[in-house]
Amino acid sequence: MMLKRITILGSTGSIGQSTLKVLATQPDYQVFALTANENVDLLLGQCQQFKPEFAVLGRPALAQDLAVKLQALGLATKVLSGPAALVQVAADPAVTHVMAAIVGGAGLAPSFAAADAGKVILLANKEALVMAGAIFMDAVARSNATLLPVDSEHNAIFQCLGQSSHVGKGVQRILLTGSGGPFLDTPLAALDQVTPDDACRHPNWDMGRKISVDSATMMNKGLELIEACWLFDVPPEKIEFVIHPQSIVHSMVEFVDGSVVAQLGQPDMRTPIAHVLAFPERVGAGVAGLDFSKLTALEFRSPELSRFPVLSMARSVASGPKSLAITFNAANEVAVEAFLAERLSFLNISIVIKAALDAAETPELHSLDDVLACDTAARALTRRILTSL
Ligand code: NAD
Ligand code: MG
Repeated sequence: MMLKRITILGSTGSIGQSTLKVLATQPDYQVFALTANENVDLLLGQCQQFKPEFAVLGRPALAQDLAVKLQALGLATKVLSGPAALVQVAADPAVTHVMAAIVGGAGLAPSFAAADAGKVILLANKEALVMAGAIFMDAVARSNATLLPVDSEHNAIFQCLGQSSHVGKGVQRILLTGSGGPFLDTPLAALDQVTPDDACRHPNWDMGRKISVDSATMMNKGLELIEACWLFDVPPEKIEFVIHPQSIVHSMVEFVDGSVVAQLGQPDMRTPIAHVLAFPERVGAGVAGLDFSKLTALEFRSPELSRFPVLSMARSVASGPKSLAITFNAANEVAVEAFLAERLSFLNISIVIKAALDAAETPELHSLDDVLACDTAARALTRRILTSL
């Protein structure tokens, strides 16, 4: 049994906590580092259970607080803080695996560092690939890293493709499923009244607040379209959005001979997490199988593009200049943050994103720094749009 050493970026989040639940049953894994932005007490509890070498927090004062608490418990975990520390624990030579589960653009630099250092990257942080797909995939290839998708749809597609991890000649279409979120059948006229809590009440999945809002606008599916193009080296025209309200089928691949292969399971992220942790083996995830005597209906339909305007935007972004994907993601992050803080209405999220795409410059991107500079500019542009509303 080869010992694996893992860093979990974003261990206090929804994906991070699910990862630790699965890891608690996996003796061939040692936890090397755990990271959180602000939640000192949850990170402390995780350190007590998993005894990592390093713990990282967003700010020095929080790190100091954690260090004092760890010392009082007699634990030897070393505490660091800030973005450079995230890169350090992602790229440390002792690390074999990195779970990239920070939400948003904040996860890009450490996820990229893991790719650059040739790790096995378990990628939940889809925004990293949306922002920096070309240079990220280059880094993976150059350093001989392994990139395994955690996002349930991409994990499903990866499983459906079988031996080849990218789209070969035999693939006709990828069918990217999505539940349609909490507002799938809400009367359109009622959408301008919805609150952050309404938007975060997802019918099937229990997730962080940002991705929950992304599911309500279907921006999540838009980001996933771009994510799939990079992961599987496939043009956007080969990917179709399919609404599937039950979230039992997690995506499908149609082959040229007419075969359609689907991956099914409970809507529980521990399944794709266990899959990538054990790949190419299989281990228990603590998730029950499906009871087909109770699965009375699996429904599928096409999304209403007028209800979810970001879906059409995602298609043009996916085939446009690469920098547009950075603006698309950055504008969404800024708009969602404003919506969650009740400074922007739900329907204005997609209007703000459209305005940012229309106004954005489209610089060439050659490096991570170019990507980060474009991201900073797009966030500033979006904030100006927000104040002008
Ligand atoms: P979450 O909000 O629950 O957790 C986010 C984690 O990132 C936390 O540990 C937080 O401390 C950390 N973090 C946030 N901002 C940070 C910053 N500026 N610097 C450092 N750390 C920071 O989010 P989540 O739902 O677990 O999602 C994580 C990622 O996984 C996202 O990219 C999301 O799109 C993706 N994803 C999530 C799910 C899901 O079911 N939750 C499914 C598929 C993909
Ligand atoms: Mg998903």
